[in-house]
Amino acid sequence: ANAQELADRLAKEIPDRAMLHRILATTEAEELEVIRAAAERTLLEHCGDTVRLRGLIEFSNRCVSDCYYCGIRRSNRAVDRYTLELDEIVETAKWCGQKGYGSVVLQSGERRDAKFTKLVTEAIKAIKQETRTAELPDGVGMTLCLGEQSPETYAEWYEAGAHRYLLRMESSSPALFAALHPAEQSHAARVACLKSLKELGYQVGTGVMIGLPGQTLDDLVNDVLFFRDLGVDMIGMGPYIPHEQALLPGNPAFPDTETRMQLALKMIAATRLLLRDVNIAATTALQALQEDGREQGLRFGANVIMPQVTPPRVRRMYTLYDGKPCLDDNAEQCATCLEGRIHSVGRRVLRNQWGDSAHYFKRQ
Ligand code: SAM
Repeated sequence: ANAQELADRLAKEIPDRAMLHRILATTEAEELEVIRAAAERTLLEHCGDTVRLRGLIEFSNRCVSDCYYCGIRRSNRAVDRYTLELDEIVETAKWCGQKGYGSVVLQSGERRDAKFTKLVTEAIKAIKQETRTAELPDGVGMTLCLGEQSPETYAEWYEAGAHRYLLRMESSSPALFAALHPAEQSHAARVACLKSLKELGYQVGTGVMIGLPGQTLDDLVNDVLFFRDLGVDMIGMGPYIPHEQALLPGNPAFPDTETRMQLALKMIAATRLLLRDVNIAATTALQALQEDGREQGLRFGANVIMPQVTPPRVRRMYTLYDGKPCLDDNAEQCATCLEGRIHSVGRRVLRNQWGDSAHYFKRQ
């Protein structure tokens, strides 16, 4: 009876705070299926049945930040550091274009020096030039995921041709944010970056880690409401996964794998039900917890996948958390495997298109 009542309400109401809490709290199989089906229906209605691919190029693991949870934090001396050459970044993006991926994500550790800024600007320009085809006259779409930067740097990269930026809030709770980062990084500075990105015209994405030590269901409800209030276009969020060399201070308890996986899927569904027309990624961290984690993400309302295309020889050096999947597969193998996975959940790949967020165009 409860599940039926939930289904009726989700069919006609946009969830309020109490309903978001209920969605995140339930562990009952019948209710979970009701939530999943409602999120999938909302997705199909507002975004269609296509899955948009963004080839993920992790081009450098050098980082000036020291986020306590992250395997490539600057104080982790056990990692060998690398930065790909411009040519290799561009070649990798070209491969994505030829495969019909439509978009790439340039991701790296955080750096704010002039040499880095210039490398990114040159990479954006070259990728734009060299991935032009009849189907993609402006080249592949480009998302940046390069952390906190000055408004001038964000502007330089936007003018060079990048048009989306993903900067996770990690947690919208100022207290939790402070527990996860050294004092030099602030909640307020991150919010200011997100606002500056939006003002510049980027399609803006954010997200949080799910199942962090000390994180409550209320924190997660606030995160979803934060996404709405900021008016973001894209969401990339996934379970927190510990890294051996980046254990959170005091190593307090965090939910077990199954609970975090279920929480992450419920967060995708809750976000889809509330925000409706944004792009939501089924992130790699889901797959790190469960082999079919990304497919489950798609079934709970996600519509973006970021296939791993980082050259295999450096992939192991970009380990944010333990158990990163696809470490040894080459990009070709990842492409073949992915297509099957997407079809297995009744969805199809959007080829040769940027696959932008419908939400962005509505707010223009
Ligand atoms: N440096 C940029 C930044 O911080 O936005 C981009 C790269 S950063 C490594 C990308 C994302 O990795 C972060 O936003 C964080 O959410 C995620 N991440 C890092 N460590 C993680 C962990 N242990 N578990 C899950 N996600 C993690």
